[in-house]
Amino acid sequence: MLLFVTCILVAQNRTIIQCGKFIDVKNATVLHNITVVVIGDKIEKVTDKKVNVGKDDVFLDLSSKTVMPGLIDMHVHLEHETNPKQYLEEFTLNEADIAYRSVGYAEKTLLTGFTTVRDLGGTNVNIALRRAIDAELVKGPRVFTAGKAIASTGGHADPTNGYRSDLMGNPGPASGVANGVDECAKAVRQRYKNGSDLIKITASGGVLSVAKSGENSQFTIQEIESIVTTAHDYGFKVAAHCHGEEAMKRAVIGGVHSIEHGTYMSEEVMELMKEHGTYLVPTITAGKAVGQFAKIPNYYPEIVIPKALAIGPKIQSTFEKAYKYGVKIAFGTDAGVFAHGDNWREFIYMNEVGMPFMEIIKTATINASDLLGQSDNLGIIEKGKLADIIAVDGDPTKNIEVMGKVTFVMKGGKVYKNE
Ligand SMILES: [Zn+2]
Repeated sequence: MLLFVTCILVAQNRTIIQCGKFIDVKNATVLHNITVVVIGDKIEKVTDKKVNVGKDDVFLDLSSKTVMPGLIDMHVHLEHETNPKQYLEEFTLNEADIAYRSVGYAEKTLLTGFTTVRDLGGTNVNIALRRAIDAELVKGPRVFTAGKAIASTGGHADPTNGYRSDLMGNPGPASGVANGVDECAKAVRQRYKNGSDLIKITASGGVLSVAKSGENSQFTIQEIESIVTTAHDYGFKVAAHCHGEEAMKRAVIGGVHSIEHGTYMSEEVMELMKEHGTYLVPTITAGKAVGQFAKIPNYYPEIVIPKALAIGPKIQSTFEKAYKYGVKIAFGTDAGVFAHGDNWREFIYMNEVGMPFMEIIKTATINASDLLGQSDNLGIIEKGKLADIIAVDGDPTKNIEVMGKVTFVMKGGKVYKNE
């Protein structure tokens, strides 16, 4: 009986949010005088009628702000942030150093309005970070993590690329290096055992690895199919890092759910992506950043510089073509390749080449939650969804720069920022 009474009391404790402008992402319109009622971690009601505030209710007056769903960044690396010593850090930092550092990056990400992220590659620190955030031991966005990315030997995510031979060793599926269909299946199963939420593969060469090509194909179609089929057994989606065209073709035909970067994407690939329903996650911000850093002497190793200069600046124009062609887009930045907290810049870069704010916010909410397989919980402010809500001063449909100054952050019904 006592337990019953307690439940009722808890259930009636409401947070009532009075919104000024309200971004209705689904219908791509701005609404006025909306009130959102939150109970516990969920949204109870969204209404344009007056809601009476009871004495036990918490009232939040956001009537001078524009309210929208919490943002989702589909491509971050919370364990890392670019700096000129980054290539040494694998020899100088302990796991605990990486873990403490990632806590700061996670908090910064949350406080800039990103209430959910997909981490596309680090170590098992990522998985521990997700657990610590879920347990509210540290502040951060909801994390869906790949854990360690999967590469072939010498591939973009092979952890010992560029090492001298006695340090290079021969990393295998446990370290995320897999060759042949059996090892590829094993590498996926190992991620399941480690506690990953999804799979990331590096289907082509990449910019920042110590290797010559930023675009060569690094898995056969059979290997990709093995990864995707095995991933399905565990309910995992597969994200494929790709710059090169042939690698993209194989990844899309092989059944991956998203192409990351997509730099040298041809119309043929765009057509394939439309046919298969594959998302592009653009990461324009990272592209611009590596193009800039490559001009600073000694910032990157010699072998990285030509790749950064060729690939980085091209990503924005690829995004423009793919968007205009009708490829599905999910918002993602590759934060970590540039400073965490600057994720919002992607809004500017997407907007610069013709995508209006209302479509960009959709890529960062509804589309992103679809790609996460979380449409029932995330990406929209409506009854029954998790109460992930942010606000800015000003109107982003008129001035997109205001996305750089998020002044209110609620995640799961809990307020993390209210300025
Ligand atoms: Zn990345």
